[in-house]
Amino acid sequence: GMKIGFIGLGNMGNPMAANLAKAGHEVTGFDMADVSVAGLTMAGSGAEAAANADIVITMLPNGKILRAVGDEIIPTMQPGAVWVDCSTVDVDSARAVADQAKEAGILAVDAPVSGGIGGAAAGTLTFMAGGSDTAFAKAAPLFDIMGQKAVHCGDSGAGQAAKICNNMILGVTMIATCEAFALADKLGLDRQKMFDVVSTSSGYSWTMNAYCPAPGVGPESPADNNYQPGFAAELMLKDLRLSQQAAESSDADTPMGQAATALYEQFVESEGGLGMDFSAMLPRFEKRGRG
Ligand code: NAD
Repeated sequence: GMKIGFIGLGNMGNPMAANLAKAGHEVTGFDMADVSVAGLTMAGSGAEAAANADIVITMLPNGKILRAVGDEIIPTMQPGAVWVDCSTVDVDSARAVADQAKEAGILAVDAPVSGGIGGAAAGTLTFMAGGSDTAFAKAAPLFDIMGQKAVHCGDSGAGQAAKICNNMILGVTMIATCEAFALADKLGLDRQKMFDVVSTSSGYSWTMNAYCPAPGVGPESPADNNYQPGFAAELMLKDLRLSQQAAESSDADTPMGQAATALYEQFVESEGGLGMDFSAMLPRFEKRGRG
């Protein structure tokens, strides 16, 4: 097996690291919090976890923390080693840490994931990766253990770009699906009939067909479990904000993304959305009129 350093062993990192150890790799872990992970040797610092590793994986909350961890681990990593960051962070931070790593002779990959905690535990995540062909090829065997699909999207930052573009579509589409259900209610249209039509018509989407926000309609989803997450509204808000930060720094016009960000911000900060699944936008719309 390879020597792997794994930094950030939270909800996602913990099961991902456990899967690497289970596959026979020698995994040294570190987290700020006092955590234990099956099959891992724990180090006293991020630098220590990274020092002798062939590959270092990070799974951290945000870009600011990622940059701080980069400052800590890059000087201790061996030239030729690979740093794979699986956190969801802003594109600018992803590119900055990749440049810093490359200057030290380290191969860098940004590889955010989709699939959530369930996918992390089951080893069925999707990775969207940015970096050189060589860096991607070295990380690919680990993507195969932790996930079921890895797309090499382009150079450094391309993985984060793909992630936030996907999630901007997801946020906008969820809102569109919820407001359409609320309109259908007011028109006296049965929700099941609405689903039957839309799920096989041109308004279909993942939010309608696979994650329907209406309880009792479509396959089982968080709506059927009192909107317990699932994918929490505040995490949707985080990703939408990253999309708007990227749109701003690249001068892209994203009015729907901007509107979705504002709605999720209101929902999370003042309408009870904190701790709810992001599909709980439907009861939010149900309660409102045109204002
Ligand atoms: P989490 O908060 O559970 O885990 C983050 C971990 O990083 C924590 O254990 C924390 O103690 C640790 N940490 C913070 N600063 C550190 C430092 N300086 N050194 C070492 N460890 C440090 O978050 P999570 O749910 O595991 O998510 C991690 C990343 O994955 C986030 O960027 C998130 O947006 C992304 N993501 C999460 C999900 C999900 O469903 N939870 C899905 C896809 C992507």
